[in-house]
Amino acid sequence: MSDRDRLAGDAAAIARKLAPVAASGQEGRVNRRLIGGLAQEGLLPRLFPRRAGGIRDEDVSAVDLCAVREALAKESTVTENAIAIQTLGAYPIVLAGSDEQADRYAGPVARGEAVAAFALTEPGAGTDAGALALRAERDGKGYRLSGTKVFISNAPDADVYTIFARTTAGAGTKGITAFIVNGDAKGLSGTAMRLLSAHPIGRLELDGVLVSARQVLGEVDRGFKLAMRTLDLFRPSVGASVIGMAQAALDAAIAHASSRQAFGRPIKEFQAVPRSR
Ligand SMILES: Cc1cc2nc3c(=O)[nH]c(=O)nc-3n(C[C@H](O)[C@H](O)[C@H](O)COP(=O)(O)OP(=O)(O)OC[C@H]3O[C@@H](n4cnc5c(N)ncnc54)[C@H](O)[C@@H]3O)c2cc1C
Repeated sequence: MSDRDRLAGDAAAIARKLAPVAASGQEGRVNRRLIGGLAQEGLLPRLFPRRAGGIRDEDVSAVDLCAVREALAKESTVTENAIAIQTLGAYPIVLAGSDEQADRYAGPVARGEAVAAFALTEPGAGTDAGALALRAERDGKGYRLSGTKVFISNAPDADVYTIFARTTAGAGTKGITAFIVNGDAKGLSGTAMRLLSAHPIGRLELDGVLVSARQVLGEVDRGFKLAMRTLDLFRPSVGASVIGMAQAALDAAIAHASSRQAFGRPIKEFQAVPRSR
């Protein structure tokens, strides 16, 4: 068995073990007990490098994320979502952060002690993320952030946000910088949004949030590249998680067609009901 198969198998077993914790959360809000459990069971640290509180020699790969997300999605979409958003929120810090930033901000996320979120989308900038307008204006050695983010998974409950903001007006994708912002920062507020599915997601308002130079992530005006690098790492596993969900739905349909009786036999024996397996 390969390391990747073992990781996926362990992830599925952990999801089954934590099923009662996953079911006990409040719909649409972050389930901190679940995130803590995923760390205690050792899954979260297996997705982070040592310098960011994990146990890996290197950063997680897109293929490992695919294996874990597909395996989790077969068992529990709530658990799959929790792992996906927690890692997505912290990986800009892993990819571009100094050792100090990785240890201080991503470390607690890998240990399940803090909740992370990735904040790129705005009311006027979705697919066209390079059009984002949330302002970052110089204030002494730091910056003041003002504007709105929407559809941010894990908001407004997260403890640490990677927030992408405009540092150079009119420069498109070349004028965006990434910042690490604490969830309890003065001037930061948020509200939960309701989607059709039970996904923790919200809107953030930043009203002159002061961040120090030590909270700048990577190079000034190079944040868009970091956002795309992070999404490149995570996007393939969105497809993998959907495959996991589709497999779970197919398994449930086959189980139902095998047990449901009509006219004295299981309905899978009728010609119009597919009888795979
Ligand atoms: C469940 C969920 C979780 C999310 N989590 C996060 C998160 O954690 N952080 C975050 O920053 N954002 C998050 N988002 C926001 C997500 O990234 C945006 O919804 C996405 O970027 C699309 O933006 P939009 O909804 O504004 O659609 P729009 O940009 O308005 O697009 C509308 C439609 O037009 C199409 N379209 C746009 N441009 C083109 C083009 N050039 N060619 C062809 N078609 C085009 C799009 O495909 C889409 O179908 C989340 C969204 C959802 C639904």
